[in-house]
Amino acid sequence: FEYASYNFAIKASIGISIYPYQTTDINTLLKYGDIAMYKSKKKGGNSIQVFTDQMSEELEVEASLKDVIARGEIVPYYQPIFDIHKNKIVGAEVLSRWIRNGEVLLPEVFIPVAKRIGCIVEIDYLMLDKACEFGQKWHMNGYTDFEIYVNMSYRSLKRPNCVEVIKGILNKYHINPEFIRLEITEDEVLDYPEYIVKVLNEIKALGIKISLDDFGIGYASFNHIKVLPLDILKIDQILVSRIEKDERNVAIIGTLIGLAHILGLEVICEGVEVSQHIDILKEIKCDKIQGYYISQPVEEMLFYKCFEHYSIN
Ligand code: C2E
Ligand code: MG
Ligand code: MG
Repeated sequence: FEYASYNFAIKASIGISIYPYQTTDINTLLKYGDIAMYKSKKKGGNSIQVFTDQMSEELEVEASLKDVIARGEIVPYYQPIFDIHKNKIVGAEVLSRWIRNGEVLLPEVFIPVAKRIGCIVEIDYLMLDKACEFGQKWHMNGYTDFEIYVNMSYRSLKRPNCVEVIKGILNKYHINPEFIRLEITEDEVLDYPEYIVKVLNEIKALGIKISLDDFGIGYASFNHIKVLPLDILKIDQILVSRIEKDERNVAIIGTLIGLAHILGLEVICEGVEVSQHIDILKEIKCDKIQGYYISQPVEEMLFYKCFEHYSIN
């Protein structure tokens, strides 16, 4: 409609809950409809969303996440990074877990929510702190080249004092930055390449290395590799998971590895689940691997056991 020479369009955000399948209680039915309606608004509005169980769980996570972090329920798990040529564990990636009433919840439950509401920054810095503490123990025990990999989201890199915070954590543990690797994902960082490149260069000036995570899916492009100041390329598990069955995947990964090496990057393949993967990846000159075949992400104590196992064998 027109008002005072302006045109106005009315749009609707609709949430649907279904009686009697989802609930027979009228108040709950309205609450579910409301939750679905808010989801519709968040998606930009002018749309229809049907309530799902996941929606209410997400809302609960959203409401409690800040307290969860404050209570120390987000903890680090560690997954080995294995050098297939030296045949030993050379480092670990820190992956966050939520310990809720003794149950271990995966990042998929809380990381997307944390990214949306912003507290991913606290999680990232917390994990970096824990990872440096963990790395320092290795370095002090004589494993002076033990590598630590930490996921760093775009929001954390965008914080104005990001470099200062990272520097502060490095100083707190007096850890050699050369063995700290920050993992970024291109879909997150490529919206603001110039700014991100500047921040990443400042981080690199501290001595830290930069790794591009989940390469080979989504936005993957060799132009990004050229633009971003990278040291390591991590090839996504989706590409790796079926290499033993698909010659073409072997060719793709082999070519990626070749190109990455020409550009001076080290290559880590994720999602290595069977020994055949290792044989193939060795042949196509992959440097390091990560995957369930070596170990799932585990608590600190179990990580030591895993390390011991691979030192003996
Ligand atoms: P990512 O950084 O790519 O981490 C690797 C994921 O692959 C981990 O999932 C790991 O458990 C899984 N994985 C490793 N080896 C195998 C394998 O052989 N087979 C299969 N099927 N999966 C394997 P996880 O721990 O569930 O983490 C998922 C994602 O959540 C991570 O992917 C990372 O992007 C994000 N994430 C986790 N912790 C943090 C954090 O502290 N900060 C940020 N920003 N992101 C995090
Ligand atoms: Mg990662
Ligand atoms: Mg990955």
